Amino acid sequence: MNTSRLLLVAAPAPEHDLEGHPERAARVPAIRAALAADPLTNALPVTTPALASEAQVLRVHTAEHLAFLEGALAQAPAYIDHAPTYITAGSLEAARRAAGGACALVDALVAGDAEAGFALIRPPGHHAPPEQAMGFCLFNNVAIAARQAQARGLERVLIVDFDVHHGNGTQDVFADDPSVQFVSLHQEGIYPLTGAIDETGVDNIYNLPLPSGAGVSAFLRIADEIVAPLASRFAPHLLLVSAGYDAHWRDPLAGLQMTTTGYQALAGRLNRIAHDSCSRRVGFVLEGGYDLQALGSGVVASLYGLLGAPTDAPDPLGPAPRREPAIDDVIAQARRLHRL
Ligand SMILES: [Zn+2]
Repeated sequence: MNTSRLLLVAAPAPEHDLEGHPERAARVPAIRAALAADPLTNALPVTTPALASEAQVLRVHTAEHLAFLEGALAQAPAYIDHAPTYITAGSLEAARRAAGGACALVDALVAGDAEAGFALIRPPGHHAPPEQAMGFCLFNNVAIAARQAQARGLERVLIVDFDVHHGNGTQDVFADDPSVQFVSLHQEGIYPLTGAIDETGVDNIYNLPLPSGAGVSAFLRIADEIVAPLASRFAPHLLLVSAGYDAHWRDPLAGLQMTTTGYQALAGRLNRIAHDSCSRRVGFVLEGGYDLQALGSGVVASLYGLLGAPTDAPDPLGPAPRREPAIDDVIAQARRLHRL
């Protein structure tokens, strides 16, 4: 893909920050610095999104949740969830801009202004169910983006979540709605302890819980053996990706072993799937990722993958330190359960 067909939307949210918290204001600037230092990504256009409207937020969240966040501003800075999730005086505006960034990316994909894109936004979103903030997330950005796509006429949306944590909020939003199919690969037994393989919604939720140490080969096998056949069966109009980089082996919050090079290969697979089954449209939405170097290099590598770059993105951190465990059982069970 030509670089002019790729759009970046950035909402770094400097006002949403709390000292010592891993989901911090330095995250998007670290990505921007990595993009600026790379010859393939340094010239990509980056736009600043508007705030999501109340109507866009309310397609996913309850009015009570919005009113709770508005009320919580009076106590800011404060913790509002045990993860811990924090709120500052500027957090509600930041959350609305993050959701607005995900919607702006969808609008550009629908209009044909871009073929692929990445919303570099925070706070993240995939843990937030309709009625509350949870797990560093205030609004569920990817869910709001999926509803935006449907409001713009793209009926079927496939969401793939490769953050190391289960996308419980996204699952909650769509668990009884077959117009959205949701695949989450995540480390089993860690926060938020949901995402068992037999949580299947209305046969539209695909959970792949992975053992500690799983990495590149697990992620690529899931792309090839679960996501690709699912996409060809579902024929979505849009592929959205909850892109968290905390499955990298260097991340301090979890124990999987993805690598920078692996993120390039994974994005290449997802781009191919979008090309074959989703009218080419693919939008990445930032979720977690708390080692700043793994985060920056992981996003650069993902853009190499989306662009189909013939060269490898720089990998300053190198391969995973340990051998990966086998995951044949998880894949076989998921394929059987979903008749893939
Ligand atoms: Zn995460």
